[in-house]
Amino acid sequence: MKPVPNVRLLIAGEFVESRTTEWRDVVNPATQQRLARVPMATRDEVGAAVAAAQKAFKTWRHTPIGVRARIFLKYQQLIREHIKEVAAILTAEQGKTLADAEGDIFRGLEVVEHAASIGNLQMGELANNVASGVDTYTLQQPLGVCAGITPFNFPAMIPLWMFPMAIACGNSFVLKPSEQDPMSTMRLVELAIEAGIPPGVLNVVHGGEEVVNAICDHRDIKALSFVGSTRVGTHVYNRASLAGKRVQCMMGAKNHAIVLPDAHKEQTLNALIGAAFGAAGQRCMAVSVAVLVGEAQQWIPELVERAQKLVVGDGAVAGTDVGPVISCAAKERVESLIARGLAEGAVLELDGRLPPLDGGLREGNFVGPTIFSGVKPGMAIYDQEIFGPVLCIAGASSLDEAIALINANPNGNGTTIFTQSGAAARRFQEEIDVGQVGINVPIPVPVPLFSFTGSRASKLGDLGPYGKQVVLFYTQTKTVTERWFDDSTVSTGVNTTISLR
Ligand code: NAD
Repeated sequence: MKPVPNVRLLIAGEFVESRTTEWRDVVNPATQQRLARVPMATRDEVGAAVAAAQKAFKTWRHTPIGVRARIFLKYQQLIREHIKEVAAILTAEQGKTLADAEGDIFRGLEVVEHAASIGNLQMGELANNVASGVDTYTLQQPLGVCAGITPFNFPAMIPLWMFPMAIACGNSFVLKPSEQDPMSTMRLVELAIEAGIPPGVLNVVHGGEEVVNAICDHRDIKALSFVGSTRVGTHVYNRASLAGKRVQCMMGAKNHAIVLPDAHKEQTLNALIGAAFGAAGQRCMAVSVAVLVGEAQQWIPELVERAQKLVVGDGAVAGTDVGPVISCAAKERVESLIARGLAEGAVLELDGRLPPLDGGLREGNFVGPTIFSGVKPGMAIYDQEIFGPVLCIAGASSLDEAIALINANPNGNGTTIFTQSGAAARRFQEEIDVGQVGINVPIPVPVPLFSFTGSRASKLGDLGPYGKQVVLFYTQTKTVTERWFDDSTVSTGVNTTISLR
């Protein structure tokens, strides 16, 4: 077998080779070419990363805010300069198209830009004269060592949701990227070090379940951010909370788009196709269920016709619309769910199994756009997150019926409505029980001026990634209540009552 590079750990500012005996291959999902080997780090290596972070925190926490901000100004510049290089690595290991890989990096870059304005974000509050001669103000102080565990589907954006904001707030960080595609994350980490993040402030360990559990249990880690599946996120939340950590988990989804018959047809059909099949459906905010209301149900043939035109192939090749899914196991799972959908009585309008492919891609993990109609709760294709290029269509006779369907689904990550009626859109925004709401916007992920606001079963913990919420997550709010005396204000006598006056 041709030798491939080993992905390294980052501990105390050094990129080092793991001493583990356990490795797994990083594989191009379009071709099955081995790209690298990633180590399953040992418990000692996790311990060393946390110890390095703990040591670095002692000085980093006192670093002036302007110094921290300027590192992220430099970092955003370096990411811009290297965006094409990182996108090529990302496409090779993850499969999404090059343009989409650049989008993945760009959405992370926006968080880095946001981290550069930490001076405005980490300001406290002050109330003058809360009692006679007494003022109260808040301090937003860093917590210590924070950690992040990330999924395979956004190997640039999601690590960048985490460590820039945590470090800008004055914390140190231990990152555990997805073991399926760690190479683009590592390139971004190298650029962060080049931007001036000091040794030990950012550390990286690789691995799977054991490393994640070691992070959950480590008593010197104060806060943990997780993004991934609901099953793993629930485990991480419970285990890390029990170990006394502050935890935020963004998890699985089933995002519904309501289409009212008055919607702009051209825009709506194109938006649905892009949101369902882009990144081969492997986005936590992908539209996976379209709820067609009334006469909009007659649009199915046109939807199918447009989806059929998408080009399935290697994301690195210009003109590709839909790349592979991440692994052979993911492909098998998606295909078995398609078979189950058929067996459970849904109508297979478009079958993406065995998509037409260039000869060289026969080994790749390809599933083409797939559309089911007549989908109902209780069917596996509705109840489970498929995480592949499969769009389920459900019918509804009214907006209220469509809203009731969505509110009965346990997930609450994203949803959207297509309509030209302001009144219908407003009713939807008020009544829908989902955290991220789009109005004629298929994937309503907020930019970092706001926070990511998935809800219900798609989230555990109160505060979301990036934006203002994450500053609260990565800092401890202290209130300081102070009074200063001079001769004119000295009171006489002891006061045993609770009042400050
Ligand atoms: P995953 O849960 O399998 O993996 C996420 C992380 O957990 C990885 O770093 C992995 O190494 C680790 N992990 C895997 N199995 C584990 C186990 N048994 N014990 C402990 N740790 C384990 O998720 P994935 O397949 O990489 O990513 C896809 C999922 O992530 C989808 O469900 C998607 O909806 C979700 N996601 C959610 C958001 C969001 O913001 N809500 C964003 C992106 C992805």
